[in-house]
Amino acid sequence: MSLEILDQFHDPALCRSVLDRLCATLTGPLRFMEVCGTHTVAIFRSGLRSLLPKEIVHLSGPGCPVCVTHEAEINAFLDLAEKPGVIIATFGDLMRVPGSRGRTLKAAQADGARVSVVYSPPDAIKLAAENPDAKVVFLGVGFETTAPGVAASLMMAKAQGVSNYRVLSFHKLVPPALEALLADADPAPGQGIDAFIMPGHVSAIIGVEPYRVVGERYGKAAAVAGFEPLDILQALLFLAECQRDGTPKVANLYRRVVRDEGNAKARAVMAQAFTSADALWRGIGLIPGSGLEIAPEFAAFDAKRDFAIEIKDCPPLPGCKCGEVLKGRLAPNLCPLFGKACTPAKPVGPCMVSTEGSCAAYYKYQVD
Ligand code: SF4
Repeated sequence: MSLEILDQFHDPALCRSVLDRLCATLTGPLRFMEVCGTHTVAIFRSGLRSLLPKEIVHLSGPGCPVCVTHEAEINAFLDLAEKPGVIIATFGDLMRVPGSRGRTLKAAQADGARVSVVYSPPDAIKLAAENPDAKVVFLGVGFETTAPGVAASLMMAKAQGVSNYRVLSFHKLVPPALEALLADADPAPGQGIDAFIMPGHVSAIIGVEPYRVVGERYGKAAAVAGFEPLDILQALLFLAECQRDGTPKVANLYRRVVRDEGNAKARAVMAQAFTSADALWRGIGLIPGSGLEIAPEFAAFDAKRDFAIEIKDCPPLPGCKCGEVLKGRLAPNLCPLFGKACTPAKPVGPCMVSTEGSCAAYYKYQVD
């Protein structure tokens, strides 16, 4: 996209006119959840949060990939990192995420474990080809956005005969998590979610159809939105109109990137390499059908099978309220540890580690 077009999405007069329409449309409190960590940061960085009327309550959801990676899954990464003959290949944002014992991959690396930060799954395949004496395990976390690339890496490793490449798949799927949140026990009056801003990147893969249930079964409006200030204001205006009119519609407002039908090719690659499975989400628990296991066709590359890894639920980190934050039940600054025992320099939980984490965003933009 050209810079001129992008400029329109920041145009102050245009943004102001949409904001005025939004204010005129509101009929009462509008508690909206943005599901994606990138939206969390965009809302703060653009200054929108301070411009929105007080009736609009902003809740963060379970859309930060490393934040929802369960403590037990981090424990599995750490156990694997300590095995002889294993090299862990991971994206950098997992390095400081603590497991249930508070230990991180960064600490394991400092203690001598072979942990390499890579920028893509093909980098991990290259690492495997360069280290034939070791098994290189790529840590597969993230949502429908990253899963197709990891699926393609399994095909690439098979085609190239890189037999020491492994993937430990803890990928997660967004729609089942949204349903789990909505089906959860009734929150206290005035504490629920009225509407959703859906994640732009995930929607580019899955399209709009999987969100229909949010409107049809749960009566909530939802908008797929981009990440510029005007995108977010337009989405909020749409949600406010739905609330005013009592019509919980689901709309794609990010058409310059997201097709209604999503990306069929990416989904086909995922469907070939993965099968769906139940998955544990940090702070939320087990969600049926919300994870991705490696398909039998690629069993030779599956670290879970190779190392007989079993994931069992375990208690959350003491004092950390990430679970409540990820469910939109608690604002990060209301966690007793926020900004005191827990800061980006010394994070207690993953929501303070990741740049997409709500706690890190609240801290960086000084919400107290
Ligand atoms: S402030 Fe820290 S301890 Fe509290 S919920 Fe956030 S990450 Fe967890």
